[in-house]
Amino acid sequence: MSVVEIDVAAHELLAEAARACRILDMEGHGDMTLGHVSVRASGGAGFWMKRNQIGLGEVLGADDFVMVDWEGRQIAGSGGRHSEWPIHSEILRARPDVNMVVHSHPFYASVFSAAVEPLEPYTLDADYFVDLPRHEDEVALITTAEEGRALARSLGSHFAVLMGNHGVTFCGATIEQAVCTGIFLEKACKAHIVGRAADLRTKMPGSTVRAKRHQQIMTPVHWQHCWRYFCRKLEACSQAAAAPAIFG
Ligand SMILES: [Zn+2]
Repeated sequence: MSVVEIDVAAHELLAEAARACRILDMEGHGDMTLGHVSVRASGGAGFWMKRNQIGLGEVLGADDFVMVDWEGRQIAGSGGRHSEWPIHSEILRARPDVNMVVHSHPFYASVFSAAVEPLEPYTLDADYFVDLPRHEDEVALITTAEEGRALARSLGSHFAVLMGNHGVTFCGATIEQAVCTGIFLEKACKAHIVGRAADLRTKMPGSTVRAKRHQQIMTPVHWQHCWRYFCRKLEACSQAAAAPAIFG
């Protein structure tokens, strides 16, 4: 199926989105073939979404994406479309500042999604997620526009939302921001769970300190540096995996 031609710019965008998928898999977001990623397509016709039946770590390039319009119709790409396309259509519709959306099941954040307590800032990572919203609903999968709109409302103006007893959805203006948001969210939830498990009593920073940290650390420059770091790490891991075994 291909109503829309994939031009050079789209190829480059999807190569970066594919790399983002593999980085997220490397950093704990992979869960078999579950989870999906979208990027807003130029021209306003819809969005590119990772195809179904493959894991995040198996997404290699443009052929692993399908283009979906705002009503969920697949208008380009030969792979299958994930049924939860409304997560992407409704967040991209509600948030013109967002260009990438991810839904995944990172282990610690998924466990934390079932908790009723707020995220405690044991590490700097949590400062990205002040008043982290939690979406509660009665559905297993988000497969209608109405369910997608409800999730977008829970997300509000934040960049991440927990989905109770399920997983997370996060987003960004750029690929770098979205990927870093997902990775820092998983780290923050891991720190919370480990800290609580150890019964650590710690003085939590106040909201003023946390706001200042946000200004000083959580910047687009930081996201770019982290993105480049994750790209190098992915490359090194790929080379190590491809190298012949020296021992045993
Ligand atoms: Zn899910």
